[in-house]
Amino acid sequence: MIIECDDKVYNPLGGGSYIFEKDIVNFLLNKFDKNKLIISIGAQPNSSPHFGTLTVFSLAFSLAKKMKTVKPNINISILFEVVDTAPSETTVINTIKYQKSLKSTGKINNYFKEYVEILEFLKKSNNIDYSIRFQSEFNNQEYIYPIIKRIIEKKDEIVKILDPKYEKLRIRVACPYCSMSDKNSILTKFDKDKIISHCPKHGEYVTDIKFETSKLEYNTPVRNLVRAIAYGLNNNDPNKDYQIMRITGSDYAGFYQEELLYKPASILGFPVQKLPPILYSPLVLDWSGAKMSKSLYVKEGAYSDLPPYLINYKGLKNEKGIEALSIIQTITDNWIDNPYMLFRNYSIYYFKKEFDEYEKSNISKY
Ligand SMILES: [Zn+2]
Repeated sequence: MIIECDDKVYNPLGGGSYIFEKDIVNFLLNKFDKNKLIISIGAQPNSSPHFGTLTVFSLAFSLAKKMKTVKPNINISILFEVVDTAPSETTVINTIKYQKSLKSTGKINNYFKEYVEILEFLKKSNNIDYSIRFQSEFNNQEYIYPIIKRIIEKKDEIVKILDPKYEKLRIRVACPYCSMSDKNSILTKFDKDKIISHCPKHGEYVTDIKFETSKLEYNTPVRNLVRAIAYGLNNNDPNKDYQIMRITGSDYAGFYQEELLYKPASILGFPVQKLPPILYSPLVLDWSGAKMSKSLYVKEGAYSDLPPYLINYKGLKNEKGIEALSIIQTITDNWIDNPYMLFRNYSIYYFKKEFDEYEKSNISKY
């Protein structure tokens, strides 16, 4: 099927783009009263960073750079929260699904250097520093124990929202001997400060959340909730010299956050107005308007009709070189300079057009 395209790009105003047509940076800056700001981004490093991840990372640096232009004395940096607890291998034993994390299988090392390479490039080209935090470091914060304790207290209400299918609290701890964990918390029990987990090989083991929060692993909705509340507590903590906000893909915007973040946070007794701001990065869509999915590409060989540079970092680097990240940076800089462009998504053909035009105008570079 071939349909002619007129190559024209329209940005009709509506919703967020109407309110934040010309400025979003001052709106965001006004939410913070400390002079040190951290912009958090995240990923599960289980494959080469896909194109959507590259745009999220690039957008974070674009926003930081623009904030520095508007407020030159601000101390601003990027924080890459690495979801190294994401599943790497899964096994089913007696109908229960067990997983080993990226960290425990070591598979994180297959791709992690690509993430660092991207962050280093963006750091140098934008003069904005970054740091990296793994899940155990995130969980070591003093805020985590009271949050998890509260979630366990309100478990019956919370599970109906965060896991409507099984109504299980998806917090898990890996077995200290074989690092397997009960993926869906089917056999896991919660009793005040204790998490009682079960390994099919090594039996029961108990975790005390008061002293061992660093061992906790969450599924995405639980992690999203815990992270937002922890950031909120940090932002309002007079003993912390920095505040933190988040940039994530806009597939989490709207219904997801309203139902799975803001309402549960309120049920837990955390004031919603103190949660951190989240800026949503436009999605990269395929021809039908679906999000370009990393797992479809990895598992099922989707998008074989597209040039590899539009799929992931490996393809981009092979075909165009690391320098091509600056084309994505130009695109996300433009979104921040014209924030009405943030409140919509873009098809992969839009990026192809931008790459073609950039390369035509910078022909000497290639
Ligand atoms: Zn075990």
